[in-house]
Amino acid sequence: HDADGRPALSVLLCAPRGFCAGVDRAIQIVELALERYGAPVYVRHEIVHNKYVVESLKRKGAVFVEELHEIPPTEQPVIFSAHGVPKSVPEAADRRNLFVLDATCPLVSKVHKEAEIQYRRGREVVLIGHTGHPEVVGTMGQLPPGTVSLVETVEDARRLVARDPDNLAWITQTTLSVDDTRDIVAVLQERFPTIAAPHKDDICYATTNRQEAVKAVAPAVDAMIVVGAPNSSNSQRLREVAERAGCPRAVLIQRASDIDWRDFAGISRLGIAAGASAPEVLVEEIIDAFANHFDVAVEEVRTAEETISFAVPRELRAVAAAKS
Ligand code: SF4
Repeated sequence: HDADGRPALSVLLCAPRGFCAGVDRAIQIVELALERYGAPVYVRHEIVHNKYVVESLKRKGAVFVEELHEIPPTEQPVIFSAHGVPKSVPEAADRRNLFVLDATCPLVSKVHKEAEIQYRRGREVVLIGHTGHPEVVGTMGQLPPGTVSLVETVEDARRLVARDPDNLAWITQTTLSVDDTRDIVAVLQERFPTIAAPHKDDICYATTNRQEAVKAVAPAVDAMIVVGAPNSSNSQRLREVAERAGCPRAVLIQRASDIDWRDFAGISRLGIAAGASAPEVLVEEIIDAFANHFDVAVEEVRTAEETISFAVPRELRAVAAAKS
């Protein structure tokens, strides 16, 4: 305990954590579009799965919709979220002459292209991913309806009935659990020995690195906070990874006001990680909240360096250059 009677708490901060290059680019696209074209700028779906980010962009003049039909006739830009969209969406935008800026992460677009190439080679595409997640809807929507088989679990992989068992290819969502996916792929390869794999992992560098950082910290702490939204796939996976790596209590928290202090009574070591769509200010807010209850010492545990970044669309490069 310190002089104020607060118990000591050692905080291990996972690194890398928080924003990835795709999220950073998507948010930049909305901000730069607002600068270049003025408000409103329409965004189809939450640009990234984080309420704090969405609310702050709304205040700057972004208007969020779920589908294009909610957008009135306009010459203002329409932005597609980082998760990507089915082919039907740009087609509908074209028919309406909408001016589109695509914030689909280039690493999601890479999976889209893979799906198309395998399909053109005549292979049946098996997508490993979570039913209903917008990225999965987008990837399945690259190919004609009913052609992609979705596999979510090892059980699904065991039960998969392939139309063309000797001519399959697997691809994945970018934000899956690395370990679960390995198990699912093992079952697919055992059942379908000729199944084609992606050239390079579809699970992205950011997902992989954040999971590694959590694995390094989780066994050493009494509790782990993952900063992220309940609809954020990569954040949910981080929580599961922490639990499986031996952390007795792992919770997903959006911001400091969500903290249930009963969860953290009596702990002396806390791990903090953040999903790819969680801004650093929310991590800081949570550390500050802990500093009110504990005598906090923060230490960063880094398991990888990240240097990757993605260029914004052509239309926005001049505004971006003027700012840097
Ligand atoms: Fe792109 Fe990975 Fe970030 Fe998704 S989590 S936006 S795929 S870098």
